Formats: sequence, structure tokens, C-alpha cells
Amino acid sequence: TDRTNCPPDNAALGRSTWTFLHTTAAYYPLQANERQQTQMTNLLESLSIFYPCNWCATDFRRDIKKNPPISAVAGRESLMKWLCARHNEVNQKLGKEEFSCEVKNLDARWKDGPEDGSCD
Ligand code: FAD
Repeated sequence: TDRTNCPPDNAALGRSTWTFLHTTAAYYPLQANERQQTQMTNLLESLSIFYPCNWCATDFRRDIKKNPPISAVAGRESLMKWLCARHNEVNQKLGKEEFSCEVKNLDARWKDGPEDGSCD
């Protein structure tokens, strides 16, 4: 059956949230000003509090406490890499494949599409 209009399970919620986060990072200012850095830090910390999967939120809080976004929010490339690393922590926990966190790879997946034009 078509579950498009059903409430999201944890997998659908996760896919949507990662899509939002990685895409937002891919369009984040190359060099963010102080206000933007504070706002991004607030967004990430708020997500770790309100994310509507309790054990996911708890683990994410623990992970960002260990790896604070403080220097990552300085600009686009560092934020993309930091988020990729956080996502890889979850991938590892779930036994999923590790994603390669080079900016080129992240741009291809979340902004530009692959070079072969298959997403154009
Ligand atoms: P997803 O992991 O959702 O990834 C979507 C796509 O992103 C992939 O197809 C790939 O193209 C790309 N991608 C994969 N890895 C990376 C990366 N490192 N960087 C950039 N792009 C990447 N689920 C649980 O069961 N337990 C948890 O504790 C849990 N914690 C979560 C915490 C957070 C903050 C979030 C946002 C989600 C969490 N999830 C958790 C959900 C989980 O991460 C997946 O979203 C879900 O299992 C669906 O997985 P998926 O295989 O469809 O791909």
C-alpha cells in the first residue's frame, strides 16, 4: 500500500531529517558570520533536544557533546564534513555503510548531482 500520507516511522523521519540537514549545510554560507554561527549551533542543539525519536536524540546529544559543532559552524565545508561525520556515527551504530566525507562527494550527493548527469 502507498504510505505517502502515513505518519513517518523512524527510518522515514531519519531520511527526511538528514536530507534537510545535509542540504542546508550544502547551502550554508562559505564563511558564516557570528550571528549565523550562533543560529546554526542553536539549530543543531535544538534538534538534539526535540528530535522525535527519543533514543536517537539521546545518542545525538551524547555525540555532539563529544564533538561540539563550535568550529564546524564557521563555514560551509567544515559544517558539511562535521555533519557527515555525525551521520556516519549513526551509520556505524546501525551497521550501515560509511559515507565518504570529501566535499566533492557531499556536493555531488546533496547539491550538484553526479558528474554523469544522471540526476539532471
Ligand atoms: P539514511 O541514513 O537516512 O541516509 C540517507 C542518504 O544519505 C543515504 O542514502 C546516502 O545517500 C546519504 N548518506 C548516508 N550517510 C551519509 C553521510 N555520512 N553524510 C552524508 N550523506 C550520507 N535510526 C535508528 O534506528 N537509531 C538511531 O539512534 C538513529 N539516530 C538518528 C539520529 C539523527 C540525528 C537522525 C537525523 C537520524 C537517526 N536515525 C536513527 C535514522 C537513521 O540515521 C536513518 O535515517 C534511517 O535508518 C534510514 O536510513 P537509510 O538507509 O534510508 O539512509
